[in-house]
Amino acid sequence: MHLGNLSEGLKKLANWCHKTVGPEQLEIWYERIGHIPNEAWKDIIKKIIDRTKPNSPLPSPEEIRSAYSLWLQDHPLKKAIEFERQDCDECDGDGCITAWYEDEDIKGFFLDDEPRQIWYKKYLPCAKCDNWKRQFPVHGALAPKKRWTKDEIVEAGMYLQSPYVYRAPIKEEDIPF
Ligand SMILES: [Zn+2]
Repeated sequence: MHLGNLSEGLKKLANWCHKTVGPEQLEIWYERIGHIPNEAWKDIIKKIIDRTKPNSPLPSPEEIRSAYSLWLQDHPLKKAIEFERQDCDECDGDGCITAWYEDEDIKGFFLDDEPRQIWYKKYLPCAKCDNWKRQFPVHGALAPKKRWTKDEIVEAGMYLQSPYVYRAPIKEEDIPF
């Protein structure tokens, strides 16, 4: 899973248990259970919340891994996505690169009479390593058709960082009226 997925799931769980997870803990969690694909992670979080009372201790990484083993038994076809993590400079080993893009369909959204650009974020599979297999289906219709390098993402007009932070000025010719 992506670090963002881990953080989101843990936050939900920690809120439920009235606990907090600090950034250093998050890093350790990622080391221990980062290999779990996001699809399984979401199911695991749901299941744990269903059977945990508020204020309970957080589950251990070992308990999460056991839950993942059970999940794999229920989803035998997903076993193919268990791959070892490789080092990669392109994607920092995440297997995917965050790309920000503007949705053409909602271009020209106005807020308080001011034109606003709306940006979306997606995770694209890295072309330079095999870690994408840990994040995306490897076979079948949902397997990625294309893998990306950062250069290709930029060439395609997308951003590697949030445009809300590094926002390009809106040009007059972009305003539809
Ligand atoms: Zn990579």
